[in-house]
Amino acid sequence: MIATFGRRFALALADGSEVPARVKGRRLEPVCGDLVDAVPLPNEPDWMIVAVLPRENELTRPDLRGRIEVLAANLDALIVVTADLPSPDWFIVDRYLCAAELMRAAPAVVFNKIDLGKPQASSERALEEYRAIGYPTLRMSALEGTPLEALLAFLEGRRGIFVGQSGVGKSSLINRLIERSVLPTAAVSAKRREGRHTTVSSVQVALPHGGAVIDSPGVRDYAPAVTDPADVAHGYREIAEAARGCRFANCRHLREPQCEVKARVATGSISARRYESYKRLLALGERLSRA
Ligand code: GDP
Repeated sequence: MIATFGRRFALALADGSEVPARVKGRRLEPVCGDLVDAVPLPNEPDWMIVAVLPRENELTRPDLRGRIEVLAANLDALIVVTADLPSPDWFIVDRYLCAAELMRAAPAVVFNKIDLGKPQASSERALEEYRAIGYPTLRMSALEGTPLEALLAFLEGRRGIFVGQSGVGKSSLINRLIERSVLPTAAVSAKRREGRHTTVSSVQVALPHGGAVIDSPGVRDYAPAVTDPADVAHGYREIAEAARGCRFANCRHLREPQCEVKARVATGSISARRYESYKRLLALGERLSRA
């Protein structure tokens, strides 16, 4: 599934060709990234989607009525975009990274707008923290299109999405990638007309080397809600790793004795900022789950 326009879809077939499609009945709700079974319809260009195959993972958010809405499926990579303008909120970055860990999508942090100058000291520190715990960090300028190769290499063979605060440059980066996309597909050219007549809710752009990016307004605005304390601990990878050394298996790393996480924060091998961020997300999750 490569594009959705309301109840109209575009499919990429196994041979790489692209066909328009609709869906049988109201029950099936395919999203970008889905693998589907579809059959050609006699005497029309459309294909009929008859089944959505089981998903590896889903990017979800509650809709206005509190139901869970699936924005995209089968994501291999989640790229968190940051910049010094607007003023960065590293707690939000941590929340996205936590969501990526829980989805088992490969995370990366892009620091965009380097054409404006070097990252400020606090951003340098945060980027260094991410690099130290194993997240690829890329410094880029979507404006100048550099260095796009590193981003393309990260996305090689992966289906990825861009998330991050509004104004950091997600659309600009995606536009740069579209310029490099393998085929200017119908879905993508429809996207270029977006805002005029076609409303594309979601589109997957194929990249060189077999990777792809999914773009949609919903995905760009996505803010993860993590409420389960076990999920929060799992989503901070250096905390999850240290937790194996804690005396108590259910240690929350707050006031428990013989806590390896707090010991590592004290020696500086876990960043105090990341630990504070973990505690804040834990508290937020508790508030949300009580609400
Ligand atoms: P989004 O809300 O994350 O999708 O951000 P946009 O792509 O819409 O970009 C927000 C603003 O930042 C726009 O005015 C862009 O022109 C600008 N912008 C995006 N990337 C860069 C960049 O690399 N350098 C500079 N200087 N400005 C950028």
